[in-house]
Amino acid sequence: MSDRYAVIGHPIGHTKSPLIHGMFAKASGQDLVYTAIEGRPGLFAEDAAAFRAAGGRGLNVTAPFKLDAFAYATERSARASLAGAVNALKFDGERVLAENFDGVGLTRDVVRNLDCAMQGKRVLVLGAGGAARGALLPFLEQRPAELVIVNRTVAKALALAQELVGQGPVRACGYQELEGQRFDLVFNATSASLRGELPPVPATVFVPHGLAYELAYGKGLTPFLRMAQQTGVRRLADGVGMLVEQAAEAFAWWRGVRPATQPVIERLAVPLA
Ligand code: NDP
Repeated sequence: MSDRYAVIGHPIGHTKSPLIHGMFAKASGQDLVYTAIEGRPGLFAEDAAAFRAAGGRGLNVTAPFKLDAFAYATERSARASLAGAVNALKFDGERVLAENFDGVGLTRDVVRNLDCAMQGKRVLVLGAGGAARGALLPFLEQRPAELVIVNRTVAKALALAQELVGQGPVRACGYQELEGQRFDLVFNATSASLRGELPPVPATVFVPHGLAYELAYGKGLTPFLRMAQQTGVRRLADGVGMLVEQAAEAFAWWRGVRPATQPVIERLAVPLA
């Protein structure tokens, strides 16, 4: 019988994960079945246990279960611990190993696929939710000149920066303090774009030679990307590469084989226009 994997979320109808992992499995000759599970809020542990009992080997975890998966795990990686959220589980007998690949996937997309080095650059992250939290350690590993976290609820950004003291040049502030500051790479890790909204970031943060990266994907030119484009930023990206790269990290963790990502990114990409 083929090994079983799945993504669990609620709602899960929109997920691209079965398509992505199906393409990875085919291209790398791995014999596995990957499905989508409509999770039940409040019953994550029961749903995960049922999947394990049926022979499940690993789960990708998406909203709203990333914190439930964190609690369900018996062992967590350092980046899952800092993120306080888990997006991949591996089952090994009684052990439940937990990882968060969102940040490494994002970093890989930026540094390798977009060929945009972070070393020595000024990096701005908008948002202090799960996606932002997951990105910070992998970003610091790239040795930026400075990493600034800005959030609507400033206390959350300050708390996050405090957790990273000693890990690198990181600080936090409110949006109004960004006036007069410029950044080489600007990441929109808020959920504003999911509602067609623009976070209150001043247009002056962008530089033409820089990168504007929208973590949401499949939405075309979001208000954030449009603003960056209007200020003359030439390099724009959405989160499709991050999505595929985090999936590849999970696939490699489960199967010991790293699949090629470019054909999958090309299949899923939506034009930014
Ligand atoms: P969370 O709900 O954990 O965090 C949301 C963040 O957005 C908070 O910091 C919140 O600020 C901020 N926010 C929401 N609305 C606004 C607004 N109108 N103006 C300013 N700030 C706002 O979300 P996630 O971290 O899980 O997701 C963030 C984004 O990342 C989403 O677009 C999601 O789709 C994307 N994502 C992409 C992935 C990929 O693979 N490409 C993977 C995971 C996420 P406050 O604290 O003040 O409420």
